Amino acid sequence: MLAELSPALIAEVKLAAKLLAAKQHICILTGAGISAESGIPTFRDKQTGLWENYGVEDLATPEAFTRDPKLVWSWYQWRRQLVADKAPNPAHHALAQWQYHAQTSDQQVTLITQNVDDLHEQAGSSVTHLHGHLWRNRCGQCQTPSQDQPRTSYDNRNTMSFDEALLTCPHCGGYIRPDIVWFGEALPIQAWQIAEEAAANCEVFISIGTSSLVYPAAGLAQLAKQNGAKIIEINPDPTPNTIVDITLAEKAGVILPLLIEEITAL
Ligand SMILES: [Zn+2]
Repeated sequence: MLAELSPALIAEVKLAAKLLAAKQHICILTGAGISAESGIPTFRDKQTGLWENYGVEDLATPEAFTRDPKLVWSWYQWRRQLVADKAPNPAHHALAQWQYHAQTSDQQVTLITQNVDDLHEQAGSSVTHLHGHLWRNRCGQCQTPSQDQPRTSYDNRNTMSFDEALLTCPHCGGYIRPDIVWFGEALPIQAWQIAEEAAANCEVFISIGTSSLVYPAAGLAQLAKQNGAKIIEINPDPTPNTIVDITLAEKAGVILPLLIEEITAL
Protein backbone atom coordinates (compact mmCIF):
# COMPACT_ATOMS: atom_id res chain seq x y z
CA MET A 1 0.00 0.00 0.00
CA LEU A 2 2.87 2.34 0.69
CA ALA A 3 3.72 2.15 -2.99
CA GLU A 4 0.47 3.92 -3.87
CA LEU A 5 1.58 7.04 -2.05
CA SER A 6 4.03 9.65 -3.23
CA PRO A 7 7.59 9.35 -1.86
CA ALA A 8 7.13 12.70 -0.08
CA LEU A 9 4.00 11.48 1.71
CA ILE A 10 5.65 8.16 2.64
CA ALA A 11 8.53 10.14 4.15
CA GLU A 12 6.03 12.22 6.17
CA VAL A 13 4.22 9.08 7.41
CA LYS A 14 7.54 7.60 8.56
CA LEU A 15 8.49 10.88 10.23
CA ALA A 16 5.12 10.99 12.04
CA ALA A 17 5.43 7.34 13.10
CA LYS A 18 8.92 7.92 14.51
CA LEU A 19 7.71 10.94 16.47
CA LEU A 20 4.62 9.12 17.79
CA ALA A 21 6.43 5.93 18.77
CA ALA A 22 8.78 7.96 20.97
CA LYS A 23 6.03 9.77 22.90
CA GLN A 24 3.84 8.68 25.79
CA HIS A 25 0.85 11.00 25.68
CA ILE A 26 -1.11 11.28 22.47
CA CYS A 27 -4.35 13.20 21.98
CA ILE A 28 -6.41 12.54 18.86
CA LEU A 29 -9.34 14.62 17.65
CA THR A 30 -11.52 13.26 14.85
CA GLY A 31 -14.09 15.14 12.81
CA ALA A 32 -16.60 14.75 9.97
CA GLY A 33 -13.97 13.63 7.44
CA ILE A 34 -13.38 10.25 9.11
CA SER A 35 -17.14 9.51 9.13
CA ALA A 36 -17.53 10.73 5.56
CA GLU A 37 -15.14 7.94 4.53
CA SER A 38 -17.77 5.51 5.89
CA GLY A 39 -20.46 7.18 3.80
CA ILE A 40 -21.95 9.41 6.49
CA PRO A 41 -22.87 12.74 4.90
CA THR A 42 -21.74 15.92 6.62
CA PHE A 43 -23.87 18.99 7.21
CA ARG A 44 -22.02 20.70 4.42
CA ASP A 45 -23.16 18.03 1.93
CA LYS A 46 -26.26 19.03 0.09
CA GLN A 47 -29.40 17.61 1.68
CA THR A 48 -31.33 15.43 -0.69
CA GLY A 49 -35.00 14.93 -1.58
CA LEU A 50 -37.33 15.66 1.26
CA TRP A 51 -34.88 17.82 3.15
CA GLU A 52 -33.21 19.84 0.41
CA ASN A 53 -35.05 23.06 1.22
CA TYR A 54 -34.03 23.08 4.87
CA GLY A 55 -30.90 24.57 6.39
CA VAL A 56 -28.99 24.01 9.61
CA GLU A 57 -31.03 26.80 11.25
CA ASP A 58 -34.26 24.85 10.53
CA LEU A 59 -33.02 21.47 11.76
CA ALA A 60 -30.20 21.67 14.25
CA THR A 61 -30.69 24.55 16.66
CA PRO A 62 -32.61 24.77 19.95
CA GLU A 63 -34.76 27.51 18.38
CA ALA A 64 -35.75 25.17 15.52
CA PHE A 65 -36.82 22.50 18.02
CA THR A 66 -38.90 25.00 19.99
CA ARG A 67 -40.50 26.29 16.78
CA ASP A 68 -41.20 22.94 15.15
CA PRO A 69 -40.22 19.89 17.25
CA LYS A 70 -41.88 17.49 14.79
CA LEU A 71 -39.76 18.74 11.90
CA VAL A 72 -36.51 18.48 13.85
CA TRP A 73 -37.36 15.06 15.31
CA SER A 74 -38.35 13.72 11.86
CA TRP A 75 -35.09 14.91 10.42
CA TYR A 76 -33.04 13.18 13.11
CA GLN A 77 -35.03 9.96 12.73
CA TRP A 78 -34.34 10.13 8.98
CA ARG A 79 -30.67 10.77 9.66
CA ARG A 80 -30.49 7.85 12.08
CA GLN A 81 -31.97 5.61 9.42
CA LEU A 82 -29.39 6.89 6.95
CA VAL A 83 -26.49 6.19 9.33
CA ALA A 84 -27.79 2.90 10.83
CA ASP A 85 -26.08 0.57 8.36
CA LYS A 86 -22.79 2.48 8.19
CA ALA A 87 -19.71 0.66 9.44
CA PRO A 88 -16.27 1.72 10.67
CA ASN A 89 -13.65 2.16 7.96
CA PRO A 90 -9.92 1.28 8.11
CA ALA A 91 -9.22 4.58 9.91
CA HIS A 92 -11.55 3.72 12.81
CA HIS A 93 -10.13 0.20 13.00
CA ALA A 94 -6.53 1.45 12.98
CA LEU A 95 -7.22 3.87 15.86
CA ALA A 96 -8.87 1.10 17.90
CA GLN A 97 -5.88 -1.14 17.19
CA TRP A 98 -3.52 1.59 18.35
CA GLN A 99 -5.47 2.08 21.61
CA TYR A 100 -5.40 -1.67 22.16
CA HIS A 101 -1.66 -1.79 21.50
CA ALA A 102 -1.09 1.21 23.80
CA GLN A 103 -2.43 -0.80 26.76
CA THR A 104 0.60 -3.06 26.58
CA SER A 105 3.11 -0.28 25.89
CA ASP A 106 3.47 2.78 28.08
CA GLN A 107 1.47 5.00 25.74
CA GLN A 108 -1.73 6.82 26.56
CA VAL A 109 -3.86 7.42 23.45
CA THR A 110 -6.85 9.66 24.22
CA LEU A 111 -9.47 9.76 21.48
CA ILE A 112 -11.86 12.72 21.24
CA THR A 113 -14.45 13.08 18.49
CA GLN A 114 -16.68 15.80 17.15
CA ASN A 115 -18.78 13.14 15.43
CA VAL A 116 -22.12 12.01 16.83
CA ASP A 117 -22.08 8.55 15.23
CA ASP A 118 -20.75 5.49 17.06
CA LEU A 119 -18.26 4.25 14.49
CA HIS A 120 -15.32 4.57 16.90
CA GLU A 121 -17.19 2.45 19.46
CA GLN A 122 -18.14 -0.06 16.79
CA ALA A 123 -14.45 -0.42 15.95
CA GLY A 124 -13.67 -1.04 19.64
CA SER A 125 -12.28 2.34 20.67
CA SER A 126 -12.79 4.18 23.89
CA VAL A 127 -13.83 7.70 22.85
CA THR A 128 -15.11 11.00 24.28
CA HIS A 129 -17.86 12.72 22.28
CA LEU A 130 -17.70 16.54 22.21
CA HIS A 131 -20.94 16.97 20.27
CA GLY A 132 -23.09 14.28 21.88
CA HIS A 133 -24.53 11.03 20.58
CA LEU A 134 -26.84 10.53 17.64
CA TRP A 135 -28.19 7.33 19.21
CA ARG A 136 -29.15 8.81 22.56
CA ASN A 137 -32.19 10.88 23.51
CA ARG A 138 -33.00 13.17 26.37
CA CYS A 139 -35.81 15.45 27.44
CA GLY A 140 -35.59 18.88 25.81
CA GLN A 141 -37.08 20.45 28.95
CA CYS A 142 -35.77 18.72 32.10
CA GLN A 143 -32.74 17.08 30.33
CA THR A 144 -33.46 13.63 31.82
CA PRO A 145 -31.89 10.91 29.64
CA SER A 146 -34.63 9.06 27.78
CA GLN A 147 -35.25 5.35 28.08
CA ASP A 148 -36.88 5.36 24.65
CA GLN A 149 -33.66 5.04 22.75
CA PRO A 150 -33.86 4.20 19.10
CA ARG A 151 -30.67 2.28 19.74
CA THR A 152 -28.74 2.11 22.98
CA SER A 153 -25.67 0.66 21.37
CA TYR A 154 -24.59 -0.62 18.01
CA ASP A 155 -25.36 -4.27 18.75
CA ASN A 156 -29.14 -4.01 18.99
CA ARG A 157 -29.74 -2.30 15.69
CA ASN A 158 -32.55 -4.72 14.77
CA THR A 159 -34.79 -3.25 17.44
CA MET A 160 -34.44 0.33 16.24
CA SER A 161 -37.47 2.47 15.70
CA PHE A 162 -37.37 5.39 13.30
CA ASP A 163 -40.92 6.47 14.07
CA GLU A 164 -41.42 10.15 13.36
CA ALA A 165 -44.02 10.57 16.11
CA LEU A 166 -42.80 12.86 18.89
CA LEU A 167 -42.04 11.27 22.26
CA THR A 168 -42.77 13.01 25.54
CA CYS A 169 -40.88 12.89 28.81
CA PRO A 170 -42.55 10.79 31.54
CA HIS A 171 -41.26 13.23 34.19
CA CYS A 172 -42.28 16.63 32.84
CA GLY A 173 -44.16 16.08 29.58
CA GLY A 174 -41.50 17.93 27.55
CA TYR A 175 -40.55 16.68 24.09
CA ILE A 176 -37.75 14.16 23.75
CA ARG A 177 -34.84 15.33 21.59
CA PRO A 178 -31.62 13.75 20.35
CA ASP A 179 -28.81 14.05 22.89
CA ILE A 180 -26.55 15.98 20.58
CA VAL A 181 -25.07 19.45 20.72
CA TRP A 182 -26.89 21.77 18.36
CA PHE A 183 -25.52 24.94 16.80
CA GLY A 184 -25.55 27.66 19.42
CA GLU A 185 -25.42 25.22 22.35
CA ALA A 186 -22.56 24.77 24.79
CA LEU A 187 -20.36 21.66 24.66
CA PRO A 188 -20.94 19.10 27.45
CA ILE A 189 -18.77 20.22 30.38
CA GLN A 190 -17.34 16.81 31.29
CA ALA A 191 -16.42 15.90 27.71
CA TRP A 192 -14.80 19.29 27.17
CA GLN A 193 -12.77 18.93 30.40
CA ILE A 194 -11.47 15.53 29.25
CA ALA A 195 -10.57 17.03 25.87
CA GLU A 196 -8.85 20.08 27.37
CA GLU A 197 -6.87 18.00 29.84
CA ALA A 198 -5.77 15.54 27.15
CA ALA A 199 -4.79 18.38 24.79
CA ALA A 200 -2.90 20.30 27.48
CA ASN A 201 -0.99 17.21 28.65
CA CYS A 202 -0.22 15.55 25.32
CA GLU A 203 3.12 15.46 23.56
CA VAL A 204 1.54 14.98 20.16
CA PHE A 205 -1.89 16.22 19.06
CA ILE A 206 -3.40 14.63 15.94
CA SER A 207 -6.27 16.26 14.12
CA ILE A 208 -8.06 13.86 11.74
CA GLY A 209 -10.68 14.80 9.16
CA THR A 210 -11.34 18.20 10.64
CA SER A 211 -9.89 21.62 10.00
CA SER A 212 -7.48 22.67 12.75
CA LEU A 213 -8.59 26.25 12.13
CA VAL A 214 -12.22 25.80 13.21
CA TYR A 215 -13.31 25.71 16.84
CA PRO A 216 -13.36 23.67 18.99
CA ALA A 217 -10.61 21.78 17.16
CA ALA A 218 -8.57 24.95 16.79
CA GLY A 219 -8.74 25.64 20.53
CA LEU A 220 -7.56 22.15 21.44
CA ALA A 221 -4.72 22.18 18.90
CA GLN A 222 -3.59 25.61 20.13
CA LEU A 223 -3.75 24.46 23.74
CA ALA A 224 -1.61 21.44 22.88
CA LYS A 225 0.86 23.61 20.95
CA GLN A 226 1.17 26.12 23.81
CA ASN A 227 2.08 23.24 26.10
CA GLY A 228 4.84 22.09 23.79
CA ALA A 229 3.08 19.38 21.77
CA LYS A 230 3.76 18.64 18.11
CA ILE A 231 0.71 18.90 15.87
CA ILE A 232 -0.10 16.38 13.12
CA GLU A 233 -2.99 16.91 10.71
CA ILE A 234 -4.46 14.08 8.62
CA ASN A 235 -6.81 15.55 6.05
CA PRO A 236 -7.08 15.01 2.28
CA ASP A 237 -7.83 18.71 1.99
CA PRO A 238 -5.68 20.33 4.67
CA THR A 239 -6.15 23.97 5.53
CA PRO A 240 -3.03 26.12 5.54
CA ASN A 241 -2.14 26.31 9.20
CA THR A 242 1.08 27.52 10.71
CA ILE A 243 0.76 25.52 13.94
CA VAL A 244 0.75 22.11 12.18
CA ASP A 245 4.15 20.40 12.26
CA ILE A 246 3.36 17.42 10.02
CA THR A 247 0.61 17.41 7.40
CA LEU A 248 -0.51 14.08 5.96
CA ALA A 249 -2.67 15.15 3.03
CA GLU A 250 -4.55 11.94 2.30
CA LYS A 251 -7.65 10.08 3.47
CA ALA A 252 -7.53 8.88 7.07
CA GLY A 253 -8.51 5.39 5.88
CA VAL A 254 -5.31 5.28 3.81
CA ILE A 255 -2.91 7.00 6.21
CA LEU A 256 -3.89 5.57 9.59
CA PRO A 257 -3.45 1.83 8.88
CA LEU A 258 0.04 2.61 7.52
CA LEU A 259 0.90 4.95 10.35
CA ILE A 260 -0.23 2.57 13.08
CA GLU A 261 1.57 -0.32 11.40
CA GLU A 262 4.76 1.77 11.45
CA ILE A 263 4.27 2.86 15.08
CA THR A 264 3.58 -0.61 16.42
CA ALA A 265 6.56 -2.03 14.49
CA LEU A 266 9.00 0.52 15.95
ZN1 LIG B 1 -38.57 16.04 31.09
